[in-house]
Amino acid sequence: MKGIRDFSQDLFNYLLVVNFMDKDSRFMFEAIKEAEKSLDEGGIPIGAVLVSNDKIISKGHNRMVQEDSPILHAEMDAINNAGRLSSKEYESLTLYTTLSPCPMCSGAVVLYNIPRVVIGDNITLMGAESFLLDNNVDVKVLNLKEASDVFNKLLDKDPNLWKRELDRVENSTDVKR
Ligand SMILES: [Zn+2]
Repeated sequence: MKGIRDFSQDLFNYLLVVNFMDKDSRFMFEAIKEAEKSLDEGGIPIGAVLVSNDKIISKGHNRMVQEDSPILHAEMDAINNAGRLSSKEYESLTLYTTLSPCPMCSGAVVLYNIPRVVIGDNITLMGAESFLLDNNVDVKVLNLKEASDVFNKLLDKDPNLWKRELDRVENSTDVKR
């Protein structure tokens, strides 16, 4: 069992890490927490958050398995949870997503003129980043180990679940693993 001293040491280490983390990594860790939530629910561990003026305005995670939905990717969930915004509000947003966004989610980003996307991992899977770039979206790739780790937990736990999802879209997004 942990003593109070261990807890304060953990807290100290956490605050130290968070303090020295840049803004984008900090918001990405919130998206990773969302991905963990999905994994806990038996779903696909991908998470997203929407940030406006350094504040999180909505969070989301992939809920395709949980809701038997063809469209509830993490990014779509976060965009949906933000409600219907004005074009000016969309233009203030950054979308943080743990995994490189697919053509559907990239399409929503372009449709609503979300100007910036930060990606946790594009090594496990490469989405429609070239489409985002072609439409003048500012794309930043962090390739954080923690972002790929959370997704790889699914591949270790239930590789067929992800394979089934890819079969449904005839592998139009490809896992490089
Ligand atoms: Zn998507």
